[in-house]
Amino acid sequence: MDLNLLRSTLEELGQPKFRFDQVWKWTAEGARGYHEMSNLPAKLREDLTEKVPFSTLSEVTRATASDGTVKLLLNTKDGRPIETVLMRYKDGRRSICVSSQSGCPLTCTFCATGAMKFGRNLTAWEILDQALHLRRIDELNHCVFMGMGEPMMNLDAVLEVCRRLPDLGITNRRTGISTVGWVPGIDKLTESDVPVRLAWSLHSADSQLRSDIMPVNDRYSLADVKAACDRFYEKRRKMVFVEYIMLGGVNDSVEQAKLLADLLEPWKYKINLIPYNPTDSIYDGSERDQMERFRQVLEDEGFNATIRLIRGRDIDAACGQLAAKAAA
Ligand code: SAH
Repeated sequence: MDLNLLRSTLEELGQPKFRFDQVWKWTAEGARGYHEMSNLPAKLREDLTEKVPFSTLSEVTRATASDGTVKLLLNTKDGRPIETVLMRYKDGRRSICVSSQSGCPLTCTFCATGAMKFGRNLTAWEILDQALHLRRIDELNHCVFMGMGEPMMNLDAVLEVCRRLPDLGITNRRTGISTVGWVPGIDKLTESDVPVRLAWSLHSADSQLRSDIMPVNDRYSLADVKAACDRFYEKRRKMVFVEYIMLGGVNDSVEQAKLLADLLEPWKYKINLIPYNPTDSIYDGSERDQMERFRQVLEDEGFNATIRLIRGRDIDAACGQLAAKAAA
């Protein structure tokens, strides 16, 4: 829902100020349309139905994986495809993974989104609507900006969304923004008033190898990104999450683990090793025992290092698999 349009429309209709909050409260709590908003006058519900589309997005397909993960393919009004995912865990965690761009201009070699055509930045309302569509399916309590796109290239919209997410049940403490290491965005987040978590998609502490698998490394060097993440830590006193995708025979050696341990400090960085989800790329995921060995090296160096649970693979909803196949 375009909340600017809602606000101006309510004004035009001569409605009192509290109407905006009424409509937003219903929407944030999972209402399926204006017709459910029983404390609004019937005529106003009709007017809003006509003048303010309930969502800026339309649902194209919905897939549910055997583990309960739901993936939605949504279209913007100008026909751009976006994917968004809801992950459900036995302990009650309901985590959503939202997209900040349709496609992605960065061409990380292992990621399916990087291989599709870049569309554009999404508006704050298009990002928020992904969360609202999922809120109509289930209650929510965690959010990561790890869907399609690079959130730091669209940070104003992302922060606007973060300010609204608590109304859907997702506190900023349970919200994370994941970045390839887009330095100006990291710095802007550090200076902002939004207390969300930061995650850095690092993937190799060897600069040459990192450039090979993530061309953006030529633009912002490891040292520059590291310095920006350190500034975030200094200001916020919150650990930075490091994501490290495990590519068999590429970045998963003991030597690479040592480079990673040398680059980071265990009290500032928490490392999440990510099993590689198959895409049409040239890579294979690391063997399980190699991942375990890599993790052990990091633990011996004093790091908190975990291996991420795999979710939603059977519907191509896992990390890096979001490519809007159905729309291609
Ligand atoms: N552009 C941002 C957010 C989107 S990607 C970023 O790169 O952080 C979210 C995470 O999924 C990143 O850590 C990314 O590197 C990872 N990823 C991409 N392709 C993957 C794949 N095939 N398997 C597992 N993780 C992948």
